[in-house]
Order: sequence, then C-alpha cells, then structure tokens
Amino acid sequence: MPPHVAIIGGGPAGLLAAIAAAEHGAAVTLLEKNDRLGAKMLLSGGGRCNITNTGDVNHLVQSFPGNGKFLYHAFSKFTSRDILDLLAEEGVATREEEKGRVFPASDDAGEVVEALARRAYSRGVNIRLDTQVVDILRHPDKAEGFQVQIKGGEVLEADKVIICTGGVTYPQTGSTGDGYTWASRFGHHIVTARPAMAALETVEEWPARVQGVTLKNVEVVVRSETKVVTKYCEDVLFTHFGLSGPAIINISGQAAKALEEGPVKIGIRTDSDLRADDWEARLQMALREHPRQLLKSLVARWWPASLAEVLLEVHGIPPEVMANQVTKVHRRQTAELLDEFTLQLKKARPLETAMVTAGGVDTNEVDPYTMQSRLVKGLFFAGEILDVNGISGGYNLQEAYSTGYLAGSSAAGAS
Ligand SMILES: Cc1cc2nc3c(=O)[nH]c(=O)nc-3n(C[C@H](O)[C@H](O)[C@H](O)COP(=O)(O)OP(=O)(O)OC[C@H]3O[C@@H](n4cnc5c(N)ncnc54)[C@H](O)[C@@H]3O)c2cc1C
Repeated sequence: MPPHVAIIGGGPAGLLAAIAAAEHGAAVTLLEKNDRLGAKMLLSGGGRCNITNTGDVNHLVQSFPGNGKFLYHAFSKFTSRDILDLLAEEGVATREEEKGRVFPASDDAGEVVEALARRAYSRGVNIRLDTQVVDILRHPDKAEGFQVQIKGGEVLEADKVIICTGGVTYPQTGSTGDGYTWASRFGHHIVTARPAMAALETVEEWPARVQGVTLKNVEVVVRSETKVVTKYCEDVLFTHFGLSGPAIINISGQAAKALEEGPVKIGIRTDSDLRADDWEARLQMALREHPRQLLKSLVARWWPASLAEVLLEVHGIPPEVMANQVTKVHRRQTAELLDEFTLQLKKARPLETAMVTAGGVDTNEVDPYTMQSRLVKGLFFAGEILDVNGISGGYNLQEAYSTGYLAGSSAAGAS
C-alpha cells in the first residue's frame, strides 16, 4: 500500500510537496482552507510573480540571512532550473530580468499558480479546497500516523503529514500562523515571528516632506551601537512614515532583529565608492565654477532637488545660500551628508504588511535532508512556516518549491 500523505496548505510549498509525493508513488490529499490555491502567490511580484532566481545554490543560500545553510540540500535537490523546466512542460514561457530574476513572459502570476495546480491534478493529487484543518493529532491506535481534524468534524487519517501553512503576513491570503500552534503542541520551538521584507518607520519625520522621492541605487548601511549589521545597494523610497523601496525591504529583517537588542541607525550613502573628502573636492569645484548658484541647486546634481533642500535644512545648512558665500564648515557638513546621512530606526511596519515572516519552526529541530521533524516521525514542514527568510529576488518562492519538493519526496519514501 502506498503511504497516504496529507499536505496542509495549497501555496507553492504545499503544491510542490503534493506534486513530489504523488510523483514518488504516494496517495496524496492536499487541504486548502481558501476556495482557491496560491492566494499569496497571486499577489507576488506585484501580480507578476518573480518565480525564482537563476543564481547558483551558494547564491541562493547567501540570500537567506541567518540560517540559509539549512536550505543547502533542498536547493540542490530541486533547483531553479527544475521549477522552470516544470513550468515550461506546463506551457509557461518565462523571461529572465536583471539580477537573475525570472518572471512569466505573460507577467501574470495566475498562469504560474494554474500550471502548478494542473501538474498536481495530473499526478492524481486529491485537492480539497474550502477545507480548513483545525488540528493534527497522533493516531491513537497506531505507532505511527496522524488524524487530521477538519472544520465541520471530519477526521482524515494519514500516514504522513506535511505542514505548509506559511507565515503570518498578509493574513487575508489565508496564512494566519495555524501551523505554529500544531507544531508547538508536537514539542517544536517556534522562533518568534517578526516582519521581514517590510518598510521601516523612522524617528525623524522629515521623510514625509519628500514622500514619493526615490534615490536610485544607493548603499544602505544598518548600524547598531557596536557594529555594521548589514549593507545593501538598491533603490530607497521616502514615505510618509519613513523608508521603503527594494534596498530597505531587503535589510528590514536584520534591522528589525538588531532593534530588539538596542538602537539602530540606517545610513544612506549616495555612492559607496566615494568618501567625504571626495565629495568635498567635487563640491568645492562646483561651488567655484558656479559662484552665483544656490547651494541647494548645486547639491541637486547628486540628489533629487526636494530631498537636497530638506536634507540641508534639517541639518542646519542654509539651502538658499549662494555658492560663493558657503562657509567652510557648511561645505564640509554638506560633503559629509553626501557621503552618508542617517536616520534612526523606530520600528518595522506591522507584521501583517510585511512580505515575508521571519521566525517560525526552529530549523534545528528539522532534518535538512528530508524536512522531517526531528521530534515526531512522519511529520514534515516546508515553505515559509520554517524559520528562514530570503531577501527579494525570487528566493522565497524558490525556498517554498525546494523545501516542498524535498518534504514531498521524503514523505513518499524516496529518501
Ligand atoms: C505581496 C507579496 C509579494 C511577494 N512577492 C514575491 C515574489 O515576487 N517572489 C518571491 O520569491 N516571493 C514573494 N513573496 C513571498 C512568497 O509569496 C511567500 O514566501 C510564499 O508564498 C510562501 O509559500 P508557502 O507555500 O510557504 O506559504 P503560503 O503561500 O502563505 O501558503 C500557505 C497556504 O496555507 C493555507 N492554510 C493556512 N492555514 C490553513 C489551515 N488551517 N487549513 C488549510 N489551509 C491552510 C493558506 O490558505 C495558504 O494558501 C511575496 C509575498 C507577498 C506577501
């Protein structure tokens, strides 16, 4: 008799787990509480779905700050090439954009979800929508096996269970952290959920005055009182509450974690190759060549004009002063700001609005070669429910496919 594998959650992790388990000979039931599959995936990439990233395994691992090494085997077993081949076989054409990011050629996330669903159905997976799991218990009469309790009273018996219920962000998509409760009842330690890939609120209120302004490809440096926590180069967007944009989204998980230990500053560097002395030399030349221009107009060569004015003003440098009247002290201060200006981190935006949940099932208690619980035989985890979180660029979806595939094939008895 093939094992009966119950998979809870019909996101990318659950779908790949179902496909892999069925392709390795298991009888598979996929339980999804929504009336459709992949609700979060449909929102991904602004509806375009950044499907994956073509970087090699080491690059993928490095894109998961903290415990990316846990994913090495999963990323090796089911690669970005594998998901792209699967989608191609299902008729989805894809396009690679900058930094290895891959999107469907149609720019339609729905096409990707439909392709995964089609593959699962074609492999005989029993997909049950509108089916909310309320509890998972060990089978009372068997040494191994589970009873999956479904809302309404039905009990489903399964030899293996794979929990793929996601994190707790964007709860309207169905990811409400249900899996954490069951996992912790089975004895698993849950690392406290916190926002990753979120915008950041600053103590300073001046970003509101330049909301909508973007600095292109700047270096963002996160500093605690004692060290540089992380750095990342990309665009920064100023908002009514502080900072957003790809660079901020990518450092937000580590910044929020550092804030739990003490104050954190976010430095923004106009050009990571130049230091304050270089800026002073450039500024001095510009001041000399254009003696009758206003300081703010000269600085607007390097920053958007509105930002130049606000930044000078809040740092006590008169923006309207003529170039030939700029004092040495103000010239130096302006050069130092061009090198780097800093903001004090207040907090990350609320967890529900973050794209990814940091925290989740402690990876020390999960076997990285199978995704099986080290505490409960026959219980597996895959996807965002695990305590791993990647930066933006298609890495989080690849993590869901790779861990899902590994859990599904292992549960079916393949490894
Ligand atoms: C706005 C946004 C944009 C994103 N864009 C990208 C991107 O472009 N590229 C990228 O790589 N990543 C992106 N991500 C992250 C990515 O979508 C997630 O990391 C990924 O969906 C996680 O997959 P998962 O299968 O683990 O969980 P989820 O996709 O969250 O799926 C979990 C499923 O479990 C179901 N479920 C939960 N509890 C129960 C229960 N009790 N019973 C039955 N079913 C249950 C839920 O309804 C849900 O369908 C984005 C995230 C957001 C929010």
